[in-house]
Amino acid sequence: MTSLQTIASCIADYDPNALPVNAARAIVSQWATPVATIERLALRDALDRVLADDVVSPLDVPAHDNSAMDGYAFDGATLERGGTIRLRVAGTALAGRAYDARVRSGDCIRVMTGAILPADCDTVIPQEQVAINGDGSIQFLAAALARGANRRRAGEDLRSGHAALLAGRVLRASDLGLLASLGLGEVPVRRRLRAAFFSTGDELRSLGQPLAPGCVYDSNRYTLYGMLRRLNVEVIDLGVVPDDRHALEAALRNAAASADVVLSSGGVSVGDADYTRELMGRLGDVAFWSIAMRPGRPFAFGRIWSGKRVGEGHDALYFGLPGNPVATMVAFYQIVRDALISMTGALPRPVPLIAASALDPISKRPGRTEYQRGIARRRDDGRWEVALTGAQGSGILRSMSDANCFVILDHQRGPVAVGDTVDIMPFDGLI
Ligand code: AMP
Ligand code: MG
Repeated sequence: MTSLQTIASCIADYDPNALPVNAARAIVSQWATPVATIERLALRDALDRVLADDVVSPLDVPAHDNSAMDGYAFDGATLERGGTIRLRVAGTALAGRAYDARVRSGDCIRVMTGAILPADCDTVIPQEQVAINGDGSIQFLAAALARGANRRRAGEDLRSGHAALLAGRVLRASDLGLLASLGLGEVPVRRRLRAAFFSTGDELRSLGQPLAPGCVYDSNRYTLYGMLRRLNVEVIDLGVVPDDRHALEAALRNAAASADVVLSSGGVSVGDADYTRELMGRLGDVAFWSIAMRPGRPFAFGRIWSGKRVGEGHDALYFGLPGNPVATMVAFYQIVRDALISMTGALPRPVPLIAASALDPISKRPGRTEYQRGIARRRDDGRWEVALTGAQGSGILRSMSDANCFVILDHQRGPVAVGDTVDIMPFDGLI
């Protein structure tokens, strides 16, 4: 396995103390390999799961040319006669029941939507467009339709032998229907990714405990739970871990034993990291970064093992997120999310950026990427404008709840004046 140092050394200007967001993403993505285990699931259980193989259609859907309307099927060559077309109704074809006899020129058959078109018929006139004569025959103007009208072709939905769905797709409601239309009752999907997470900090209290002076309730475990569940990841909540080397070692090893990926929050900033660094050096291959972003600067990344030292036991990817509640979320969405999606085996799901006009001035200096929280609105002229949610401190979780987008100010950007264009990343689809 390539060591983190080797990977990092391939990144131009690798500086763990001022790592650009893109460089951090590039390093992380190299270690994000998909869960290998594949399971076969009944169709309904496969909703929101990641397809592990391409699904090749075993049949044409629809299997035969059939009628798109309730009406009358006939040989479209008849239309060349022009004027008023008069046809004798020779029989009926219902959905699911074929009409086997020949249909002669000058005849038609009554068809219902979905009925197989007899070989002699390639055109259907809808019932609303015909007049029925006293003798039961029908008539209509030739100009009313073209040859081939209202015919669904065999295989127009899915062709036998062609890929109907590609590996890496997260199965949606329409996909379940599509698979059913191919007669497939089971599909191969990847095992759900297992993510273990815990919070660190002596000051943290769990819900239900009294709050002593200087203590705060642990909110990160709840945001992390929500963010992970949105990616349909299996979550293992390991609780609050005090700032203690033995407790941290036990939590990390326990997490590495049971999960594919371990996330912790807190305890990775410069002052905190001393014994964490020593521990990580023994249990894993972990780098401590200061990412050139705000919020979310302190960050740890690597691989940890469940045994007493590197290479022993079960291993898991490790993300050490900053403790401040907004920083935890921003680091998750901007650095961790794509990696977790890759690990589930799903194809990338980039969130689109939209250009918006700033309603507030924003102070910003070049040299770091900022993720401010904004409320964006589409104006009547179709353009977007965005206001900030107010105080942007990395501890003010309310700024995330009030916002509907990130305002992304990229690495080189300087201050923003009212009316300047900024990029926004809508939360819809992200959160
Ligand atoms: P740290 O990264 O551990 O230095 O924590 C930075 C700040 O985030 C401190 O004010 C912590 O109290 C706060 N914090 C850390 N973890 C959590 C958590 N799980 N829930 C709420 N606040 C936290
Ligand atoms: Mg702490």
